[in-house]
Amino acid sequence: MSRPGKIARLLMQSFFKKPATLNYPAKKSGMPEGFRGRLKFNALMCIGCKMCMRDCPSGAIEIRKIGEKQFEAEINLARCIYCGQCVDSCLKKALEITAEFELAKLDPAQLKVILNAGNTENPKG
Ligand code: SF4
Ligand code: SF4
Repeated sequence: MSRPGKIARLLMQSFFKKPATLNYPAKKSGMPEGFRGRLKFNALMCIGCKMCMRDCPSGAIEIRKIGEKQFEAEINLARCIYCGQCVDSCLKKALEITAEFELAKLDPAQLKVILNAGNTENPKG
């Protein structure tokens, strides 16, 4: 088959093929099992042992005491590499990794997020 003929045949085939890409962000696909995204902090489970801080390879998490048996976590999204080590290190299961991946911010100041009893997940947007 001549080259223009081959191209025309491929073009016709492409018209009827299902698109290989998604019209993101209008359409979203689910993330694969085991994907590591946004961290969730359950302040009520935290005992302030700071094992997560000690084991974090990038110094992205800080646990602070804010009251009697009350703690908050500050996560620096600019430093976090989503390795999940803090989740594994937490014996109280106060940290959880979610499949949420849309964490980009225009303002670098928003990359430091404080999670506590009233705000368990990084704010979106
Ligand atoms: S390891 Fe768990 S319980 Fe300990 S400070 Fe970190 S989040 Fe809290
Ligand atoms: S996911 Fe990894 S890099 Fe991010 S805070 Fe936890 S231990 Fe640190």
